[in-house]
Amino acid sequence: MVVHMNTEPQRAEQKFRALLEAAPDGILIVDPRGTILIVNAKTEELFGYARTELLGKPVEILVPKRFQEQHQSHRDGYMERPKARAMGSDLDLRGLRRDGSEFPVEISLSPLETEDGMLVISAIRDVSERKRAESAARLASDRLLSAVESIHGMLSLYDKEERLVLCNSAFRELFGRHSSGSLAGKTHSEILQNALDTDLFELGEEPKEAFFRRCLAYHRNPVGALELRTRDGRSLRATSRRTLEGGVVSTTWDVTADVQHESELTLARAQAEAASAAKSEFLASMSHELRTPLNSILGFAQLLQRDKKSPLTEKQLDRLEHVLRGGEHLLRLIDDILDLSRIEAGRVLVSNEPVGIREVLDEVKATLDPMAARAGIRLTLGPIPEELPQVIADRTRFAQILINFGSNALKYGKPSGSAEFSVELLNDGFARIAMTDDGIGIPLDQQDKIFQPFHRAGQETGPIQGTGIGLAITRRLAELMGARVAFESTPGQGSRFWIDLPVHAEPSGLQRTPLPEHTLGSVLSADGKTRTIIYVEDNPSNIEFMRELVAELERVSLVTVPTAEVGVELVRDRRPDLVIMDINLPGMSGYEATRLLKSWPETRDIPVIALTAAAMTGDRKRFSDAGFYRYLTKPVRVAELMEVLEELLA
Ligand code: ADP
Repeated sequence: MVVHMNTEPQRAEQKFRALLEAAPDGILIVDPRGTILIVNAKTEELFGYARTELLGKPVEILVPKRFQEQHQSHRDGYMERPKARAMGSDLDLRGLRRDGSEFPVEISLSPLETEDGMLVISAIRDVSERKRAESAARLASDRLLSAVESIHGMLSLYDKEERLVLCNSAFRELFGRHSSGSLAGKTHSEILQNALDTDLFELGEEPKEAFFRRCLAYHRNPVGALELRTRDGRSLRATSRRTLEGGVVSTTWDVTADVQHESELTLARAQAEAASAAKSEFLASMSHELRTPLNSILGFAQLLQRDKKSPLTEKQLDRLEHVLRGGEHLLRLIDDILDLSRIEAGRVLVSNEPVGIREVLDEVKATLDPMAARAGIRLTLGPIPEELPQVIADRTRFAQILINFGSNALKYGKPSGSAEFSVELLNDGFARIAMTDDGIGIPLDQQDKIFQPFHRAGQETGPIQGTGIGLAITRRLAELMGARVAFESTPGQGSRFWIDLPVHAEPSGLQRTPLPEHTLGSVLSADGKTRTIIYVEDNPSNIEFMRELVAELERVSLVTVPTAEVGVELVRDRRPDLVIMDINLPGMSGYEATRLLKSWPETRDIPVIALTAAAMTGDRKRFSDAGFYRYLTKPVRVAELMEVLEELLA
């Protein structure tokens, strides 16, 4: 054959051949009847034929049988309108190798004018590799799409121009419902604007503009989550993340059920808290109510016990002892319940200050010694470091905790056993004050419960008196003070309870609260004149009790007043030697009255003792701030009251 060449046909032919051979595609030149005229090396390689086997053969030799007929007619069609184009670009074209195997091809055709007429050049490319890559990519994308679809929430992926590139049907369902056309390609703000235009969201008070800006700001800088509500009552929570390419992937969850649950929980919690507060309130007022009659029982029983004018018989005294012991137990129980309910109601404030461990231990030991003697248990202060720093604690509450540990050790100790307080400095800035006993120990299966209120670790039916509240109070108080309490116990061998308190950094001995400056000694002369006490109290049986008590004292007269208003006037007028003040009074309270008395120069120096039915232990600071000389709780411990009276009136 001769190809049209402009110059030097020989050389041109050579150049053409060289080009043909170098082409990366298989190249075939066929005549209008489909006879193969020229092939290049790539064609041989692709189809597995030697060149000689192809030349002069119909081109259909390279086409799978099932396409051959179709191929022929296509070829005829092409010849009628020849122009350079891809062959059947929408068809899945296949080549047939000599060995009968097939492979995907891409073919481009172009007509070639020659002296001998029109020929066709077809360039054939094996696209197996590309098809494989394409199908792998399609598989990956299918997998991604089905993963995205399977997500319950709404997922959307934006590119760095903020255009939506991918979303699942849940997203489309919400945001595409009222939008025309496909969502893909729209910008985030367009989608948002459309949602606003169609009133998709419930905005409450928030203006559309502000909402729009808020959403946009979140999209650009996604920190945390975005809470949304739809008009149809759904709560949505959107969280977005930046993608590697600088776009954003956003998931939006329907959290309606959670939000509802949450609000139900909040409501239930509020109800529970209200119920708990009501319970605490009830307990507090009940125990207040219980204390008042108990006040009379214990007070008068003590008067009977001490009655020198008409003393009781041995037998009567013995019976009275039972009344007093029962009453005291009841009182302790009431105090504990009141204390616990006040703590639980958050009404107990601890006042932490530097406290000397040694002083508190001495005080606690002195309190417990009589009980230890009765129990026949040796109570000792054991190893205590020489240099003892102060700890940060509420002094009263700290002592209360140690008394609880100590009295438990005595209660649950074995006869002739021992109970020992010890102090150890830990290296985390805490001091550990421990009580170790060799008593009955705590059953292993009960050990996790003993800090819970009313749990008595198997002692419920035993002979040892208790309420199961002490350790519950202990733990709560320790928490309030920033301390830790814990224990270890071996049944049958003994227990060790301890409290760890933060060590105070300052050198010790500086922080003692000074006693009130004045004592009556400086006001009264020892001239044997009659002393006057004014008692402000509205409860007749308390008044009666105080009258009888004071009657025992020589040269002391008692004036009683039922209200604080009258009381302060009387004090101002009569200038008594001592005022005893009830706190809960109708109208002005005992606090206010005392504050008034302390503010007037003529009454400022008269000592006032508070006497209160509410067991407001721990309010020491409040009382001393209000200017009270001392406060005593009802029911009055006669010995204690006498001590104070003697101290003030001597
Ligand atoms: P109570 O002593 O009034 O029952 P607590 O709250 O003080 O209440 O103590 C709870 C329970 O822990 C006690 O009933 C007792 O079973 C157990 N317990 C506490 N301290 C000791 C101890 N040192 N040895 C043995 N058991 C103890």
